[in-house]
Amino acid sequence: MRNVVIMGSGCAGLTAAIYAARANLQPLVIRGVEAGGQLTLTTLVENYPGFPKGVQGPELIELMQKQATQFGAEFMEGNVAKVDLSQRSFVLEAGQERLETRTLIIASGASAKMLGLESERKLLGHGVSTCATCDGYFFRGKEVVVVGGGDTAAEDALFLTRYANEVSIIHRREQLRASKIMQDRLRRNEKIKFIWNSVVDDILDADKREVSGIKLRNIKTKEEALKPVDGVFIGIGHEPNTSLFRGQLEVDDLGYLITREGSKTNIPGVFAAGDVKDRVYRQAVTAAGSGCMAAMDAEKFLEAEH
Ligand code: NAP
Repeated sequence: MRNVVIMGSGCAGLTAAIYAARANLQPLVIRGVEAGGQLTLTTLVENYPGFPKGVQGPELIELMQKQATQFGAEFMEGNVAKVDLSQRSFVLEAGQERLETRTLIIASGASAKMLGLESERKLLGHGVSTCATCDGYFFRGKEVVVVGGGDTAAEDALFLTRYANEVSIIHRREQLRASKIMQDRLRRNEKIKFIWNSVVDDILDADKREVSGIKLRNIKTKEEALKPVDGVFIGIGHEPNTSLFRGQLEVDDLGYLITREGSKTNIPGVFAAGDVKDRVYRQAVTAAGSGCMAAMDAEKFLEAEH
């Protein structure tokens, strides 16, 4: 029987692990499919306090994990396949393991959203990508597009200019959602072009298992166009990883876990932290902060039971 199991090993899960470990709760962190979370898919993080020169996302995660391990947190590879929260103790199935825990901290984060095209699904990993930092290298000297208008799309586009000759941002509106500083950087970069008011209707050529172009549609003029490209990066945001908890925990209209009084969910003993419960801020530092809250709430909950 565990005191605390933490699902997820991004900023939120690791901060929860540091706090729970320092409270002598011997937390077990189940690392999850996207181990290390979204920071492992980024490059330089410039807005995490304490790093005036910035810090590489994967390095920040590695440091947090070291810190948690040092205080006695345990880590388990793999993903949780099933959760039963209907009674205490809570039961989790992960790989061959069946785990029981007094409290559960859910920090399962959010995963990249897709456009939903059949061709996108078939070409994922064959010229279509959701991770510029993972796949940008393959597009040296090529032409690529990034779909989206937020900070993810902006960051991806800027990163891709290291390799690609031309990076076009395709956005469904005329105004970017990305932060001002990122917008300025995009506009200053000569390799970056903008295609406004447009959506991708199809990606070619799924039969050949490689990207050769995209079908674009201007949603204002209804004009359609074929643009030859070598790669398509999808940067349209994320959705919370909450499918395991549907029917057990309260979620909002977008599927984010609902918390109250800090990190409490509707089931006593189950706490949530990070992007899985945050549809507004979704920053590394807010995820870390909420991981701390969840660990402290779990500690108080266990204390009250004794
Ligand atoms: P986001 O802010 O939700 O932006 C998603 C973008 O994709 C929006 O421009 C949206 O268009 C577009 N979009 C959504 N669904 C679409 C679809 N089906 N087809 C076409 N376009 C679609 O998501 P994000 O960029 O991943 O950022 C999430 C959070 O992380 C934000 O708070 C952001 O500040 C933060 N973040 C920060 C950094 C950084 O500080 N360096 C880096 C990455 C992310 P509309 O604008 O029309 O809605």
